[in-house]
Amino acid sequence: MKVTEHIAEATEPIVSLEILPPTKGKSIESIYKQLDPLMEFKPAFINVTYHRAEQVYKKRPDGSFERVEIRKRPGTVGICAALMNKYKIEAIPHLICGGFSREETENALIDLHFLGVKNVLALRGDAAANEKFFTPHPNGHRYAEDLVKQVISLNKGSYIEEDIMDGVKTDFCIGVAGYPEKHFEAPNLDTDIYYLKRKIELGADYVTTQMFFENQHYYNYINRCAEHGVTVPIMPGLKPLTSKRQLTMIPSIFNVEVPVDLYNEMMKAKTDADCEQVGTEWLLAQCRDLLKNKVPVLHFYTLGKPHVVYNVLKQLF
Ligand code: FAD
Repeated sequence: MKVTEHIAEATEPIVSLEILPPTKGKSIESIYKQLDPLMEFKPAFINVTYHRAEQVYKKRPDGSFERVEIRKRPGTVGICAALMNKYKIEAIPHLICGGFSREETENALIDLHFLGVKNVLALRGDAAANEKFFTPHPNGHRYAEDLVKQVISLNKGSYIEEDIMDGVKTDFCIGVAGYPEKHFEAPNLDTDIYYLKRKIELGADYVTTQMFFENQHYYNYINRCAEHGVTVPIMPGLKPLTSKRQLTMIPSIFNVEVPVDLYNEMMKAKTDADCEQVGTEWLLAQCRDLLKNKVPVLHFYTLGKPHVVYNVLKQLF
């Protein structure tokens, strides 16, 4: 079922989860161990992130170095198929532009269509680790909107090879990313929303937001989006913040603010367990406030802390 259909038919708030594929060499059991307890809350979707290849230098026996490409977290498509099979749930693969040619993207979409995947999250991806700025693949996409266009083309049965007549039409529901505190490259929030609107006008169906720790950022964002004419569902992205290290790490990686009250409470915490307690209570309060304000979906970045999300959900539902 498509995300938009779930939202339209829901009579209660929907729980959505996001996981990372395990690092190469680890078993998929580690994913099941995270997700099994959370099934109690009947999540409607599980997003699976995509991690592009990284260039690393490997030492040769003669002492020289060679540049090799490695993928630390492969398996996004396989995990989606496994989750759909095991939990009978909608798995949503993240598709990125970075590192992909248009042909490779088309082939990935064909695989996903054959597997019965109904939803994709279309993203640009970040610059590769060895780049300062995002550089598209020579035959790939520069912006997420170009990827949205490609998915829409395939939904119309139009393939890259023009001699494919009567091509099978895929039927993907397309999500895109939104940034309540603006994307770090955008000069201002309005310009960022202008480009978000273009993704919607091209055919994207819904938005999932970057994490935020202050609900007012989300409320301002949905109001500003509405003023710009963006009326599709905008799912709030929520992450438990559970350690002092994250107080500086999260803002530097995700370009989001940690509110002063959360910072102060976390700094007062004496043990790791105290930190986790502070983060759990903060997330719980955020969720309660969002539900009070009738958000249709709570999207949790579980990222290795499924028990915190579990404890929050247990108190909510
Ligand atoms: P875009 O929509 O292309 O926007 C990128 C920037 O360009 C923005 O500043 C925007 O304002 C601007 N812009 C957009 N279109 C145009 C245009 N036509 N002309 C000029 N400027 C334009 N990354 C991963 O690698 N893997 C993941 O699995 C992943 N999952 C994510 C999930 C969510 C919910 C979110 C919010 C982010 C995720 N990311 C992931 C990170 C994301 O790839 C980065 O934030 C990336 O830098 C931007 O992606 P985007 O899709 O928002 O890009």
